[in-house]
Amino acid sequence: MVRLEYIKKEYEKTRQMPGKWYLTSCRYKFNITRFQPFLSALKEKRLIGLKCRSCNTVSFPPKLVCGKCLTRPDQWVSLRETGIVATFTANYMKDETTGEANAFPVIAVRQDGADTTYLTQLNPKVKFEDVYVGMPVKIKWKDNTEGNLNDIDYYDCIDDPTQKMDSLTK
Ligand SMILES: [Zn+2]
Repeated sequence: MVRLEYIKKEYEKTRQMPGKWYLTSCRYKFNITRFQPFLSALKEKRLIGLKCRSCNTVSFPPKLVCGKCLTRPDQWVSLRETGIVATFTANYMKDETTGEANAFPVIAVRQDGADTTYLTQLNPKVKFEDVYVGMPVKIKWKDNTEGNLNDIDYYDCIDDPTQKMDSLTK
């Protein structure tokens, strides 16, 4: 547990910059049918990524446009359920009764076989202090899948630090 005193801090206003913003209205047209194979795979508890033929980058979750070379990836590739923590940060939640700030890890996972990362949740039992870059993780599926990214309940540690602690104390 981490005790933090800075949870809410008042910042002194230093200066203002008056100005006018001209904002136009935008409309997004998002073609979900292109992602249908991805969503169907999730429903079956399978993972697929989109591979760019131009630069071989595999994106997971799939992207409509390759972030590296800006072409349209169109080749579906199977991915494993495992991955690594590419980076992580902490969400601090203040316990209203004790005033203590508890750190909950938020992780960016790179799925094995993919080149991109995405923000997701780690097993809530894993402590922030035990998370590290390169930590191997594995998907924990929800029991009832619906065909969207929420079918991934969270990522579990393959090398479970809580299990290690248990075995040491026994
Ligand atoms: Zn590309």
